[in-house]
This record gives sequence, structure tokens and C-alpha cells, in this order.
Amino acid sequence: MTEQDLLSVEKLVKRYGGLLATDDLSLSVREGELHAIIGPNGAGKTTLIKQLTGEIPSDSGKITFAGQNLKRLSEPGRSHIGLARSFQITSLFQEFTVLENVCLAVQAHNGHSFRFWKKVNKDKNLTDPALDILRRIGLEQRADTAAANLSHGEQRQLEIAVALATKPKLLLLDEPMAGMSKEDSERLVERLIELKSRHTILLVEHDMDAVFSLADRISVLVYGRAIATGTPDEIRNNDDVRQAYLGEE
Ligand code: ATP
Repeated sequence: MTEQDLLSVEKLVKRYGGLLATDDLSLSVREGELHAIIGPNGAGKTTLIKQLTGEIPSDSGKITFAGQNLKRLSEPGRSHIGLARSFQITSLFQEFTVLENVCLAVQAHNGHSFRFWKKVNKDKNLTDPALDILRRIGLEQRADTAAANLSHGEQRQLEIAVALATKPKLLLLDEPMAGMSKEDSERLVERLIELKSRHTILLVEHDMDAVFSLADRISVLVYGRAIATGTPDEIRNNDDVRQAYLGEE
């Protein structure tokens, strides 16, 4: 771990029976970078994200985030110190508007319960930060639309907006482009270029055009291990990566 590292993962292991989903996995994310994780299906990318958030326990290994060992921190505890995963579409309040969804997340982050949910879109302390986030993610025109009436691409943008409402130090994005049209993913790439100037981001993504245009560094996972980490150019020209993953001889 170096001083620049916001997150450091050392020898992380997650076992499912005889299968090692993550296998002595080590990597680090530097403050301010967009670090992408790529790898074939089943390489352990989502498992890593879940180990980071605390959704699943690790069998062994160490995660240090913002100087703290995460071992004893629960999922909400990790979110509280600035580790946010974009929520899944299924956790959006479908009948609520886009603005209300983000206001609720701002309110929850401020430590309030959902008791006053009926008034969230009338409270400037909630709507001001929520509208700022919606502008940054490009959803401000849809503020008054019910989440259920958004396109798939817009719902995925709203998930990211909800994660941003927790003011994360590190934003974890697990396949944000999944299921998006080419046009929607290109639009999201533009938004992420803006977001990465203000946030440290760990991005798991299969869309290689998006990864190679966004990432400052890329780690390649194969069978639960990081076989290489480097800049997009270094990864493109790495022989091990080309053989193991990019499918070249
Ligand atoms: P993809 O790109 O397809 O999303 P991934 O790199 O995210 O794949 P993981 O979902 O982390 O891969 O899965 C890693 C390995 O762990 C796979 O072999 C998967 O089948 C296995 N696995 C994941 N979750 C479980 C579980 N709950 N029980 C048993 N095996 C699991």
C-alpha cells in the first residue's frame, strides 16, 4: 500500500465450496483515479465488489480503505465511511419520481429515516443537492418522471445518482453499461468522464470501448487473481493479458 492508495486489497479470498471466486487477489485504487476491472465471465469481479461493500464476508485477506481496516465494519458502516455501490434498479422506488428517489437517498445519508418521505421534494435541503446530482448525471430533465417510466439506460443513471447522494469517497460501479443501447452507453461514458474529475471510481465493465476510453488504470482478473494492472496502453500491449483474456495468440 502506498500513500496515494485510497483502497488497498491484499490477498483477498472468497471460497464457494471447492471454487475460489477470489484467490489471493491483490490490487489498489489510487485517490482520484478511475480504475477499471476487466476479466472473463466468472473471473470474480462481482465477488470482489461484494467483498468490498461487505455484502459477503471474505475467507481471508485484508481490505484497507481511507486508512481503515474494513474487517469489522458492516455494510452500512462501510457506506458511512464513503464506500458506495450504485444501487440496483430493483432497489429504486419505482412509483416515486427521479427527484424523490435522490432526495430520499440524501435524506438517508443525513441519518434520517424515511418517515417524512411525502415531503422530500419540498425540502430545499434535500432538493438542492439532489438537483445538483441530477444535473451532473444528465437526468435533470427527468426530475419529475416516475422511476418506473424511465428507459433502462436512464434507470441505470438514476442508480448512480442515488449512490452519489451518499457523497462517496469511492464509487463502485458494477457493469453500469449492462443492457444499454450503444447510444445510451456513449452518453454514460460522457457523464463518467465528468464524474471522474470529482470522484475516485472503481468500474467493473464488459464494454471494452467504454473501459479503454475511461480508465486511468485497468486490472485484469482471471480465475480470481489480478494477472496485470496498468494503463490502457500497457494492458493492450501486455502479452499475458492478450493470451488469457483478449483472445489473441
Ligand atoms: P461476470 O462477468 O459473468 O459477471 P464475474 O467476474 O463477476 O462474472 P463472479 O460473479 O464474481 O464473476 O463469480 C466468480 C465465480 O464464483 C464464478 O465461478 C461463479 O459461478 C462463482 N459464484 C459466484 N457467486 C456464487 C455463489 N453465491 N455460490 C456459488 N458460486 C458462486
